[in-house]
Amino acid sequence: MIKMPHVIPSYSRFPVAFIRGQGVTLWDDQGMAYLDFLSGIGVNNLGHCHPKVVAAIRDQAQNLIHTCNLYRIPLQEELARILTESCFAEQVFFCNSGAEANEAAIKLARKTMFERKQSHRYEIITTNDGFHGRTLATLTATAQDKVQRGYAPLPSGFKYVPYNNPQAVEQAVGEHTAAILVEPIQGEAGVIIPDPDYLTNLRKIADRLDLLLIYDEIQTGMGRTGRLWCHQHSGAIPDIMTSAKALASGVPIGACLTTSKIAAAFSPGSHGSTFGGNPLASATALATLGVINDDTFLQSVVDKGNHLLDGLKKIASQNKMVTDVRACGLMAGVQLNSSAEEAVGVCLSRGLLVSCQKGTTIRLLPPLIVEIEEIDTALAILASVLNDLF
Ligand SMILES: *Cc1c(COP(=O)(O)O)cnc(C)c1O
Repeated sequence: MIKMPHVIPSYSRFPVAFIRGQGVTLWDDQGMAYLDFLSGIGVNNLGHCHPKVVAAIRDQAQNLIHTCNLYRIPLQEELARILTESCFAEQVFFCNSGAEANEAAIKLARKTMFERKQSHRYEIITTNDGFHGRTLATLTATAQDKVQRGYAPLPSGFKYVPYNNPQAVEQAVGEHTAAILVEPIQGEAGVIIPDPDYLTNLRKIADRLDLLLIYDEIQTGMGRTGRLWCHQHSGAIPDIMTSAKALASGVPIGACLTTSKIAAAFSPGSHGSTFGGNPLASATALATLGVINDDTFLQSVVDKGNHLLDGLKKIASQNKMVTDVRACGLMAGVQLNSSAEEAVGVCLSRGLLVSCQKGTTIRLLPPLIVEIEEIDTALAILASVLNDLF
């Protein structure tokens, strides 16, 4: 055990401390270099210390860091405009994390029904093994025992169905149902990619039964899958969408996006956040979107994602322990038929950061600015680790 006497032990941490980063590379305090194929869990989509991100933070910090939402924040208004122009949405609420963005989405769904004089409709349907955050409401939306254990009583009004099963959603809908909340690809569950028509079928059910469809794009958004928003592969738009993680490259921000009609359920005083969308976070998000929200950039994510998937398939064909590889853009999972924990630890010791999901999946979320040569190096390390272990 590493000794951290003054930090509450709510994480199990690897005994490594990074002190510098540049692009895809991180350096620890012993001078060892690592290829970061986790991106701070899908946050550093532009890699470490991208010059445009650094410049935006430096310039904005010199000018104005925070003012609060009692006053207009032109940078936040500009960010909201860029975000809404990038998708179905017309208005945005800003907060500071993914959990808070989902919390806003849940509150907005309930308040929408309340304003429609249907306050008996408060229930949100979510999917098994999904992940939506750690606040009481969002951990209840997160249908995983290990996230919920010990926190009873949980807020009521959530119902769980299997992922990638539109019929199960339809069967679960009742008089209390207000909304369906799903990830377009389940990230924490190990990169679970649903059938191509899953979201389209959910959209049809939501339309037919007059439900709100909410997408949690906190991990899948910001170019991760080769479109700015993952659901844009399908064309099935939501009523509400959440973003966070990569939105401001590591400066904390969350966003809940929706149509003007639904947004009208929030009036002054209905919801709020002290920091949400402050000048520093908004300026950094604008710089981040300035790079990612670009067709050429997004096409490069598709191309590099295909290269990564080809390499992972080759590893799978050479190693019996690998039972499946899954990828969409630069979001990838390598499914093992035994524990992936040791493999992830050995990868780290050989200079490659990846994560273990659900015990048996190795997840890769490299920065979107990764180069083909860096993908090849990472694939070589992964192949050697799997060959040595199994
Ligand atoms: C990380 C994540 C969250 C929670 O975000 P926090 O910023 O940690 O609160 C919610 N949903 C998904 C899909 C995530 O990947």
